[in-house]
Amino acid sequence: GIPSVRTRPIAERRTSRQIMVGSVPVGGDAPVSVQSMTTTVTADVNATLQQIAELTAAGCQIVRVAVPSQDDADALPIIARKSKIPVIADIHFQPKYVFAAIAAGCAAVRVNPGNIKKFDDRVGEIAKAATEHGVPIRIGVNAGSLDPRLLAKYGKATPEALVESALWECSLFEEHGFRDIKISVKHNDPVVMIQAYRLLAARCDYPLHLGVTEAGPAFQGTVKSAVAFGALLAEGIGDTIRVSLSAPPVEEVKVGNQILESLNLRERGLEIVSCPSCGRAQVDVYTLAEQVTAAFDGFPIPLRVAVMGCVVNGPGEAREADLGVASGNGKGQIFVKGEVIKTVPESKIVETLIEEALKLVDADT
Ligand code: SF4
Repeated sequence: GIPSVRTRPIAERRTSRQIMVGSVPVGGDAPVSVQSMTTTVTADVNATLQQIAELTAAGCQIVRVAVPSQDDADALPIIARKSKIPVIADIHFQPKYVFAAIAAGCAAVRVNPGNIKKFDDRVGEIAKAATEHGVPIRIGVNAGSLDPRLLAKYGKATPEALVESALWECSLFEEHGFRDIKISVKHNDPVVMIQAYRLLAARCDYPLHLGVTEAGPAFQGTVKSAVAFGALLAEGIGDTIRVSLSAPPVEEVKVGNQILESLNLRERGLEIVSCPSCGRAQVDVYTLAEQVTAAFDGFPIPLRVAVMGCVVNGPGEAREADLGVASGNGKGQIFVKGEVIKTVPESKIVETLIEEALKLVDADT
């Protein structure tokens, strides 16, 4: 049939090279992927694997682990082997950890150009080892650790400075024929970040990893990331995303997935269409919406479920939902595909919605 407005892609994707981060393609026509980073001490293998498992269950597709010490590097082989999703080693200073990560079976390595000085004379060796193992490199520029040379030239971490830093770093690898690269140019200010990625997108064909760095606690970080990623993804820019929150990393994954679902870049799972409530509401919409969200958590098929506070506008507002409820007078009008099919007491709303949803599953299979 004709795709509805909601399923049409938001924009034509920028054309980028495709790299493989382990089993996950990034760039080209690959779906935009969601990644996160563990907060455990990497050397604590059990804790790290436990957190990776939680992230995987939440829908994380690629995970990054910090490698600041030899103990962390020593833990990489077992983590890379036991993780169900590709593991990227995050390395800031020591080239020896880059070689260790590549040998350990990590799916990719992230390096930071601001700290590349010590890498300079070893880039050729890194490129060779990465090529031999089919391991891509992420050039990860951060406003906070910008190359001092560029800081001096631009006065601060401007979009131009971030992009120049990234492309200079790429050129070091390109000199050795290495182009298996993805890039990030992160800044804590979404405006600077958006400008930097636009500039970068126009100046290279490498896949881009989007991130707002130090985005803040959950609420602020979620809004900043949604705004910044939304602006870029709506222009077709961005191949993989990482939401940074001062919150447990599972929250980052949930936010990342929700951003992609909101832009139809990922099939929607559960979508609750609930009204904001108003003076006409005849039920506590907030509580009911929470209860319905909890009851449908992990439901086997994608569903749009409407929760409406009254029968005046409820069914009409929710016509595009698969099913829903409009409350009134201590009862709930249950509707499926826009038609009211029954009216039940308020206490039975949630279970009735589940029953009707299960019928939709049967019809679907
Ligand atoms: Fe108000 Fe009813 Fe609309 Fe909810 S559905 S916002 S209660 S009019």
